[in-house]
Amino acid sequence: MRFDIFTLFPEMFAGPFASSIVKRAQEMGRVEIALHDIRAYATDKHHTTDDTPYGGGGGMVMKPEPIFAAVERVLGERLSSGKSATPSAEIADTVRSYDMGVPIILLTPQGRLFTQSVACELASHEQLLLICGRYEGVDERVREHLVTDEISIGDYVLSGGEIPAMVVVDAVVRLLPGVLGDPAATHNDSHATGLLEYPHYTRPPVFRGWAVPEVLLSGNHAEIARWRREQALRRTLDRRPDLLGSADLTPADRAYLEKTSSLSEKDFGSCP
Ligand code: SAM
Repeated sequence: MRFDIFTLFPEMFAGPFASSIVKRAQEMGRVEIALHDIRAYATDKHHTTDDTPYGGGGGMVMKPEPIFAAVERVLGERLSSGKSATPSAEIADTVRSYDMGVPIILLTPQGRLFTQSVACELASHEQLLLICGRYEGVDERVREHLVTDEISIGDYVLSGGEIPAMVVVDAVVRLLPGVLGDPAATHNDSHATGLLEYPHYTRPPVFRGWAVPEVLLSGNHAEIARWRREQALRRTLDRRPDLLGSADLTPADRAYLEKTSSLSEKDFGSCP
């Protein structure tokens, strides 16, 4: 899978992409990440990439021309690679229609919320283009006529789209087959099945007097699986009951939740 990231600050990506799973995925040849400096596509002598907003007000707005030029260059390279016979006018027309099945994603606090299911959806593509905004954001014509999707990583405002782009890359890369050592590792992750994951313990069996739950030391795999499922249900009920409405629940899960929630009400009373 290939990621093309358009940014004014390519140097920000050096650390996060040069360690751990994203680094390994690149070394395995499973992932390719290309960073494109938007400033390199500004044609004036000062390489201007932002300007004051029409209508006044504070802050600066990212200009459309360098962003369009950078994205068109990358899409053009994709179309022409291995097809030298394709006439360049035809390539230019296709690129301008941005109808190549490659998501062109603007990171913006106004986009759809990035969730595990959005990460799964994005992981099914061969290539993603990610545009990082800065300042007050990008000229609206980028949103209207270039991008095909807009993603927010949460209801807060960051200084730029670089950290959101890193979040998207990391969440998508770990879902790609072959990237994690254990192929089943992501199956029980929080949000993978609509539930939060069960708690984990490792050695020592007793730490400062706090013991690991007995069942985990029992070697009884069926009992361990049942305990983990119940813990995941209970944890989701306690912390994120909003998730339960869309979780994939069995009749046994529902019965456990009913029993657990009526116990909690008796134990702690319900809020007015
Ligand atoms: N003025 C914009 C607004 O109110 O919608 C916010 C601009 S923000 C300071 C600068 C850039 O950071 C945005 O263009 C976007 O690329 C990125 N950004 C900030 N918060 C984000 C979030 N929650 N999710 C994704 N991108 C975000």
